[in-house]
Amino acid sequence: MPRRATKRGDERTPLDRDCDVLICGASFAGLAVARELAGSGADVLVIDRYEIGERQTSACGIPTDWLYALGLQDSLQQTFPQLVVRTPHKTSRLDLPWTFSTFDYRTLCELLADQGSFEFETAKVDRRTGDAVHTDRGDIRAPMIVDGLGWRRVLGSGDPIQPPEAFLSRGLEVHPFGSGEELEVWIDRSYVPAGYGWSFPADDEVRVGVGSFDPRFHVKEPTVRLAQDLERDAVRYQGNWIPHRIRDATEGGVFFAGDSAGHCLPLTAEGIRTALYFGVAVGRELRAVVEGRQTRAQAFERYGAFSAAHARKFEWMLRVQRLIPRLPPRLLGGALGAMERQRFVDWAFGHYLEIAHPRFVGSRSPTLTAA
Ligand SMILES: Cc1cc2nc3c(=O)[nH]c(=O)nc-3n(C[C@H](O)[C@H](O)[C@H](O)COP(=O)(O)OP(=O)(O)OC[C@H]3O[C@@H](n4cnc5c(N)ncnc54)[C@H](O)[C@@H]3O)c2cc1C
Repeated sequence: MPRRATKRGDERTPLDRDCDVLICGASFAGLAVARELAGSGADVLVIDRYEIGERQTSACGIPTDWLYALGLQDSLQQTFPQLVVRTPHKTSRLDLPWTFSTFDYRTLCELLADQGSFEFETAKVDRRTGDAVHTDRGDIRAPMIVDGLGWRRVLGSGDPIQPPEAFLSRGLEVHPFGSGEELEVWIDRSYVPAGYGWSFPADDEVRVGVGSFDPRFHVKEPTVRLAQDLERDAVRYQGNWIPHRIRDATEGGVFFAGDSAGHCLPLTAEGIRTALYFGVAVGRELRAVVEGRQTRAQAFERYGAFSAAHARKFEWMLRVQRLIPRLPPRLLGGALGAMERQRFVDWAFGHYLEIAHPRFVGSRSPTLTAA
């Protein structure tokens, strides 16, 4: 069980300390790293600007098997065997070869955190110098540092990536109370020229949003319009930038996992399971260091190579992301019709899941193998 120590006001005491592993970011990537270090004997510190589970960072949709693989099924809200794809000229109901589920963010984070053994502090990470991470509460030094801080890649040594010029998508959603039965996406230029809209029901709320692959395109108006078209209230906003290009996962002695390494899948902006997957991978490498089975340099090299081994698939999805908006809507509808065939659906979604398959969690071998 992690010890929580959120500090507010006068309690926000200076933080000046050393630890074996410093994990910056207590969301999907960071908590997955911590989980893999449980029981290793390492002095692990996790820091985040917010309490664990406080700020939802997504629509919280994931292939269901990922929840079971990590023992997080108690966070599950709704499960969908079908994906409904709506274009101006055609609606397709695709029977998925695996199911997709929505989950409760706070519950998932708490369940994942409970699987780790670490200390937790709230602090805002500003930057890093060598092995020291500078926060608004002081400096923390560690020989092993993980950046699970999301798209800003705060601990990177290059120039910070700045929207709208960077390789980022933008996403915004509203969370009206209500219910629904279908997992729906809209590929429709009337909402967004390059991107898609979605409606993800989750028990007593529905997460309705629009994502644009072009960071210059503002998504608030179409998000509100999509909610109105669905007769939902445009309330309880949540949005963020989404990196859509994979980057080096190791740099300057820091391990990057999840959005900080551009691990979000470019075509779908699905970044939760990949953040978990690469977080697990980092955690295993660091555990091998803690247990004296490899050096820090070896962990660095191996994890960097592991992430890079996935680059081809990410780049391929980025190409498809760029192709879809160029297709005339009628052709898109026709292509969708051709893709409805069950053999194709099974093949395409099977390959898609393989990019970060839940079986990776159960593979006990300390030797990492790319999916
Ligand atoms: C509107 C929207 C909907 C989405 N829906 C889905 C979806 O349904 N399914 C899916 O798979 N993906 C979805 N995504 C993408 C998904 O949210 C990300 O890919 C995923 O959250 C990445 O996880 P992460 O752990 O790398 O980073 P994050 O989840 O972004 O977590 C980063 C953590 O770092 C903390 N942090 C950031 N900066 C600092 C700092 N300076 N100091 C201290 N702490 C800091 C944050 O508080 C946060 O806890 C969506 C994205 C958006 C914007």
